[in-house]
Amino acid sequence: MDISLQEVEYRYAAGSPFEKKAVENVSFTVSSGECVAVIGHTGSGKSTILLHLNALLKPTSGSVVIGDRTVKAGRKEKDLKPIRQKVGIVFQFPEQQLFEETVLKDICYGPMNFGVSEEEAKCRAVYWIKQVGLSEEILQESPFDLSGGQMRRVAIAGVLAMEPEVLVLDEPTAGLDPRGRKEMMNMFFRLHKERKMTMILVTHSMEDAADYADKVVVLHKGKKVHEGTPRELFSDAERLSEWGLGVPEVVRFQRMLEAKAGRKLPGICLSIEE
Ligand code: ADP
Repeated sequence: MDISLQEVEYRYAAGSPFEKKAVENVSFTVSSGECVAVIGHTGSGKSTILLHLNALLKPTSGSVVIGDRTVKAGRKEKDLKPIRQKVGIVFQFPEQQLFEETVLKDICYGPMNFGVSEEEAKCRAVYWIKQVGLSEEILQESPFDLSGGQMRRVAIAGVLAMEPEVLVLDEPTAGLDPRGRKEMMNMFFRLHKERKMTMILVTHSMEDAADYADKVVVLHKGKKVHEGTPRELFSDAERLSEWGLGVPEVVRFQRMLEAKAGRKLPGICLSIEE
């Protein structure tokens, strides 16, 4: 399933004295099976775009095509549930949304809310808990007895159990240590590769974008300023700096690769194999 944003503009509190234009004229397409990173500095409009991806926000002008549905301003939408089911969003710190007595109930909650039978939801819980790297036994535990990393995996299993066609990840590695980050991103990447799951990674981490995305969309002050492969993006340190994606971060990334390679690398590199 493709998602296409066409000249999307969004104003918070439109028509009120507090009106604030958050994004303007943003167009890009995420094709089925792709992994696209949307990156930008704080306040660049990433969260606003994210909320359009499954119609939690409707554009003030322009349109969002999600599979066979078009969401646009001035039109009353009927039944957005199919869109919400097809596009699963893992919000930042998803573990904060756990609330049930057991992990099993928590994972089953979403699918059952979308009309899946209890029996089928339980089967999905057993399957997805393993896919996120946890054991089946954990299903009977209270989510609040788990470690932070386990809680996050449970919350992700809850979104995956709805079996979305597109998975949107909002800063999925926020607050994790480097090892946890790598494990988490590898898990998503495996899902993307093995299941050909379309993925949209909303992040300010250029490392994650460079490591995992086929295509990177850069937002700056509410506008799309770049769309291309990570290689194209990272070859232009000057523009990155202009967009608040500081050169220091690129340089830090370069140093990290050099440390891995055990030698100095020429220019801006994306991986030590290159
Ligand atoms: P990011 O996720 O990249 O940090 P946001 O989409 O949250 O960016 O914000 C884009 C712009 O919209 C910012 O200027 C921000 O202050 C503004 N904004 C975000 N949410 C609201 C809101 N609920 N009401 C008014 N302005 C908002």
